[in-house]
Amino acid sequence: TRCSKDENFEQGQLSPYGNIELSPSAGALNYGQGLYEGTKAYRTEDGRFLLFRPDQNAMRMKMGAERMCMPSPSIDQFVYAVKQITLANKRWIPPPGKGTLYIRPLLMGSGPILGLGPAPEYTFLVYASSVGNYFKEGSAPLNLFVEEEFVRATPGGAGGVKTSGNYAPVLKALMRAKNRGFSDVLYLDAVKRKNLEEVSSCNIFIVKGNVISTPAANGTILEGITRKSVVEIARDHGYQVEERVIPVDELIDADEVFCTGTAVVVAPVGTVTYQNRRFEFTTGAHSVCQELYSTLVGIQTGVIEDKKGWTIEVN
Ligand code: PMP
Repeated sequence: TRCSKDENFEQGQLSPYGNIELSPSAGALNYGQGLYEGTKAYRTEDGRFLLFRPDQNAMRMKMGAERMCMPSPSIDQFVYAVKQITLANKRWIPPPGKGTLYIRPLLMGSGPILGLGPAPEYTFLVYASSVGNYFKEGSAPLNLFVEEEFVRATPGGAGGVKTSGNYAPVLKALMRAKNRGFSDVLYLDAVKRKNLEEVSSCNIFIVKGNVISTPAANGTILEGITRKSVVEIARDHGYQVEERVIPVDELIDADEVFCTGTAVVVAPVGTVTYQNRRFEFTTGAHSVCQELYSTLVGIQTGVIEDKKGWTIEVN
């Protein structure tokens, strides 16, 4: 669906996946007015289909749109579109444990604009693809590389919203780390280059005894919906959870490190490499990471009763 800059989006319609037409001077192409979201639909053992907190993605898109001078779909419109895409693609959703339907809502300045300014017209669309599990039972934990040259976001920038422009500048750091055999990059804060921020597409947590810590969201990290959910689950399980500044040196005596995100769910980190030092962490069946993973996936796939009202059944 499309709308002009001072209007509201109308109800969109379903169409087969295919190319879309854009003006060469589209705001998204020239001035980076683009935002995206990521959420998943799950098939349950008893054949139902569940969405996990799509209203949270809708709210995050709304906040991001405000930051990027774009109109955004309403929460209801967003959730409705995600439901319609899920229904239309039911048969592509893998059986439980085998994978999910990854859903990608996209908002962009699609109208032409030559001088710097917000585009005159906007497009909101949603597409989907079935995906396998990123984190498989018994699969190798992640090996992260702490990046010291490139930063992901700066104070006052747009690191707190999911604008496409946050991703291109870190491709170089990611490719470099992958070429050296690492799974992903762990970014530091742009000012002091000493505090943990996040990983390329997931948030980071460290565990020390009964305390679980994650970098506070001060506008330079993306506030993950998985992060928020895991914080709540961990507190329910009796852990002390702290959202605070975490110096990279705390890795020295952390028991565990793990990542959270829609794609990775809750994934264990086996090692972190920082200035030629390699820190190793506990992983495996009895880890805190595994405990939180099992609970979250249990809720997402309808195996554990959803007392929090996080899931929405689609049928
Ligand atoms: N940080 C970044 C930079 C991301 O792209 C993502 C993925 N959306 C996350 C964190 C995790 O967010 P969520 O749990 O909402 O998927």
